[in-house]
Amino acid sequence: MTPRIALLGFSIECNRFAPIATETDFVTRTLIAGAEMVREARSPAPRMLGEMPGFIAAMDAAGPWEPLPSVLAMAEPNGPVEQGFFDRLMAQWEADLTAAGRIDAVYAVLHGAGLTTDDHDPEGTLLRMVRRVVGPSVPIVATYDLHANVADADVTTLNAFIGYRTNPHLDMRERGAEAAAMVRRLLDGQKTYLAHIRLPIVPPTVTQLTGKDATNRPYGELIDLGQQRMRQPPYAGRVLNVSVMGGFAFADTPFNGLTVVVTATDQDAADGLAREIAEAGWARRAKFRPMLTSLEDAVRLARDTASPLIFADVADNPGGGGRGNTMAILQAFHQAGVTGALVGVIHDPALAREAFGLGVGAAFTARFNRDGGDAFSKPFSAPAVVKSVRDQPIRGRRGIYADNTLDTGPSAAIALDGITVVVLSNRYQCADPMFFEAFGLDIAAARVVVVKSRGHFRGGFDEFFRHEQVIEVDAPGLTSPILSRFAWRYMPRPVLPIDDHAEWNPAR
Ligand SMILES: [Zn+2]
Repeated sequence: MTPRIALLGFSIECNRFAPIATETDFVTRTLIAGAEMVREARSPAPRMLGEMPGFIAAMDAAGPWEPLPSVLAMAEPNGPVEQGFFDRLMAQWEADLTAAGRIDAVYAVLHGAGLTTDDHDPEGTLLRMVRRVVGPSVPIVATYDLHANVADADVTTLNAFIGYRTNPHLDMRERGAEAAAMVRRLLDGQKTYLAHIRLPIVPPTVTQLTGKDATNRPYGELIDLGQQRMRQPPYAGRVLNVSVMGGFAFADTPFNGLTVVVTATDQDAADGLAREIAEAGWARRAKFRPMLTSLEDAVRLARDTASPLIFADVADNPGGGGRGNTMAILQAFHQAGVTGALVGVIHDPALAREAFGLGVGAAFTARFNRDGGDAFSKPFSAPAVVKSVRDQPIRGRRGIYADNTLDTGPSAAIALDGITVVVLSNRYQCADPMFFEAFGLDIAAARVVVVKSRGHFRGGFDEFFRHEQVIEVDAPGLTSPILSRFAWRYMPRPVLPIDDHAEWNPAR
């Protein structure tokens, strides 16, 4: 009998301190329903991240199946999602599942660090509804971003939990394909058992790198250990997936904390390996501390460096809910007379549209954050010349956005003396070289590149900059890795590294 698989998704990383996310934010990125979701996922440059395309491609390759697509909703990280919009999504998912007739399995694309204005755990709310509708015996498999904060429902409602294993996230398609293989296995009658252990460690974003070139990579070591141990006795053949979830501090939930989730063919294996990896994580607890460069030192480096450097504005990362428009680094570099520099990408629709309208060659006063801005995003003005403009979507070529279609809206590259700044109408993390190249800018010729990105730029710009050429700058913003600067309300305390001490006693 041809398996009938329900498909749905809800993926947004929510920063408790950022402005509310609305339906428009999802429409701008990915809000796709029904057959169009499947069509789009099978296209060469889908308007969605890689999990669903990876899942569908793997299902297609493995034999006949029937997709039952509902709604896939994805947005750039932002604040909590407006409750009314999430309620409408819930109603649509439930109506689609109810109307679908026979369902043999469900695949859900989730992020795991979602919030709504009324709910700490919208993914859990969604999963409990799905379980209620499909009943206890239909397999439900979900994939998660590695910044997921794992709530109980993420484990108790699922037959398999599959988290990304790379940061920058370069394995989204692979994890979608893994979910497809898992679904096939569950359809063949495989029974699964899950275990999860949460540690009182909330790793700052910059300590969650998995690349082999990083100097301090406690998190990457845990992921490697999980992959290694699941293939060795006594776990080989019994453990089906090990997911080490670094979590997203800025969601500020009662279930924040680095969490190990194991899916296995027996409970002992799941429990045993989860315990082993959690203990290895606890042993590394002192290593989850950021090492940033002060703005003053960054200015000195940018002014004087002989070899090219890339400066990451980690505290204003749109990929973590940052607004992509703080001026601290741009203003300081401009005042210091830094030359040969590219800065991207600033989200400022008013300025982007103005420059776009003026056209190439126009000289004008660039007024950033002209509406007054907010606590972190301050107004800044400087004489500028428009270097290039465009309003066609950009096709990502490298890193997390590879082969994604990105709608930037009317946009421009403008020169402020020796600094060329790319300004967009829509908000994106500067994770792909195309954000410069699409404007005719030569990254290889720049002395200094500044990116509004915490870490995903590493997967896009690694062909220009080695790990040693990356400077993570300590500037103000909504995504600062210095977690002690935030007023946490829901985070379990004490927790490392926000507090000096925390207790964890493995129950044996
Ligand atoms: Zn992530």
